[in-house]
Amino acid sequence: ETLTNNFVIDDEVVKNIFKPREDFSHKGSYGKVTIVGGSYGKIGAAVLATKSALKTGAGLTFTLAPKCGYEILQTSCPEAMFIEGGADYVNDFIIDENSSCGVGPGLGTEAETVKNFLKFLKSYSKSMVIDADALNIISQDKKNLNLIQKKSIITPHPKEFERLFGETENSFERLELAKEKAHELGIFIVLKDHHTQVITPEGNVFYNITGNSGLAKGGSGDILTGILTSFLAQHYTEEEAAILGVWFHGKAAEFASEKYSKESMLPTDVIHEFGNVFTELNEKVQ
Ligand code: AMP
Ligand code: MG
Repeated sequence: ETLTNNFVIDDEVVKNIFKPREDFSHKGSYGKVTIVGGSYGKIGAAVLATKSALKTGAGLTFTLAPKCGYEILQTSCPEAMFIEGGADYVNDFIIDENSSCGVGPGLGTEAETVKNFLKFLKSYSKSMVIDADALNIISQDKKNLNLIQKKSIITPHPKEFERLFGETENSFERLELAKEKAHELGIFIVLKDHHTQVITPEGNVFYNITGNSGLAKGGSGDILTGILTSFLAQHYTEEEAAILGVWFHGKAAEFASEKYSKESMLPTDVIHEFGNVFTELNEKVQ
């Protein structure tokens, strides 16, 4: 067992991270996001991540997705710009290094996507947010883990974690393994669960206590990817983005469940509550 510190992500932690919007600012002040994902039948995942990035304050948002998602994305997210990366799935990873990249939602694991995603991973020089099928691609060969750019944030749910790093007996052992891997690879692991844990490269653990079982639905993880990527673009450090991001995601879920119930709330409803979370954050820092 590694000797490290455990923290709960409470109001004080969040208050110290959150930076309110400046009066004298412009879209360039809030960074560029590139969401990479979507494939035929899974364009919704890219829509959710994109909307989520837009609604968390990013200055400019791009979606790199296949052509089959063009009209869907331009219609559902008119504020975002579309970059065509293939026909039915992404096979061309054209990503501006001046943007923060969140890759994975709905990406699929077509052979060409796999090949070119791994090539992109090798060549890209910045940290990024890696989720969903991007993690599943990495899992196909353990050597791929070393291609992950240092300080990247990976967001596996328990099954994806197991595919990446192997089986564990219980959640305690899983956390120990996560600490070991975060340290070894120099990355942030967001271990998604009822109480999501953010594990830093130093092996510190930040426990999230916001959120509820209304999030136990397809699409919830995709919106977290949008939030994290947007916070990275807005000049939060990887650690700050991960901690603030998981808290924010859960808090929005709490607002959504009050309104719609845990049963009925959808990830789209959670996105609609982002404004209430920002209002609360702005009140906290006043
Ligand atoms: P994914 O499986 O990728 O869609 O991610 C699911 C998201 O919803 C993660 O952020 C989880 O932490 C969250 N989530 C799922 N189930 C629960 C639950 N029972 N309680 C709280 N959060 C949950
Ligand atoms: Mg997911």
